Amino acid sequence: MINVTKTFLPPQEEYQAILKCAWETGWMTNRGVLVRELEAQLQSHLGVTNLIAMTNGTLPLQIAIKALGLKGEIITTPFSYVATTSSIVWEGCTPVFVDIHPEYLTIDETKIEAAITPNTSAILATHVFGNPCNIEAIQIIADKYNLKVIYDAAHCFGVTYKGKSIFEYGDVSTCSFHATKLFHTGEGGALFCKPEFYDDMFYHHNFGHDGAEAFHGLGINAKMSEPQAAMGLAVFSHITEIMSTRSRAVKLYDEILKETSFQRLKIREGTLWNNSYYPIIFNSESELLQVQRKMNTNHIYPRRYFYPSLNCLPYIENVDCKITESISSRILCLPLWAGMENKIINQISKFLI
Ligand SMILES: *Cc1c(COP(=O)(O)O)cnc(C)c1O
Repeated sequence: MINVTKTFLPPQEEYQAILKCAWETGWMTNRGVLVRELEAQLQSHLGVTNLIAMTNGTLPLQIAIKALGLKGEIITTPFSYVATTSSIVWEGCTPVFVDIHPEYLTIDETKIEAAITPNTSAILATHVFGNPCNIEAIQIIADKYNLKVIYDAAHCFGVTYKGKSIFEYGDVSTCSFHATKLFHTGEGGALFCKPEFYDDMFYHHNFGHDGAEAFHGLGINAKMSEPQAAMGLAVFSHITEIMSTRSRAVKLYDEILKETSFQRLKIREGTLWNNSYYPIIFNSESELLQVQRKMNTNHIYPRRYFYPSLNCLPYIENVDCKITESISSRILCLPLWAGMENKIINQISKFLI
């Protein structure tokens, strides 16, 4: 069976050797040595300073909304994983959807201003498939209307934009370290923020604790545990190989599919991309369904990331987002993982040429 991705598993003895440390300290969580070591290694590798490791990639979004004190309407993209929208609703705010750019697939910055009302408090956009939003244009709008900017950068491990980690942009940026993501800790994630927000975000992720007996304010439990960090450290020691083998796989898909008429993701200028997903856009949904059916019959399971579009969620008051709805019905992510064999790529591509 070929799934849309395959979790990178480090040699088991490497994981166990790191985990041994947790037995020695007797600490399973509460910011033990492994979590702090993982944070240090990631900060140095990514070139970022204010990183907080968390237990998944959804809580950082919710904490960002809560800790920035956002209220009312949040402008967001309808083309993302459900966590982007559900976090807004979960925090008692109203998502206001702005359609996407038909080639970059990120929020269309030229349509944001028209969606701003006196109740707008922020923009929460997704760098979908690791492709950056128009960060400069969004910042200009945010400054003009005094809005906060949060980026759901769940797909962005290792992406740089204009020479800096993508996580350095916006007031807060978040990443997911879920097992299906490029870098993972089984379940896990991180929050990145401007220095002035760090303390507040940190308190919020640990029940609001300020020491053992004092509380800074309201908080929740989003702490990463030691076994999660051990997996992260074990995976991270293979990151160069993970990045390079993914890049090779994407190049091979590109080469095989270059004569086909599928629309491909257009990566924004100035981006060093991470080869996190391989989306192709069909001319019609029926064509997609036909190919998907044939692949499934042959035990190949690509995924319809992201379908349905989020403006169509049952708990959302439906608004039209024509471009997203169209793309969303025609986009399919082909299987891709670190160390993927050429023969599997050839086998999958046969259904497309
Ligand atoms: C995976 C993902 C999340 C959620 O991350 P978890 O670690 O699964 O909680 C959020 N947003 C996007 C765009 C994602 O793909």
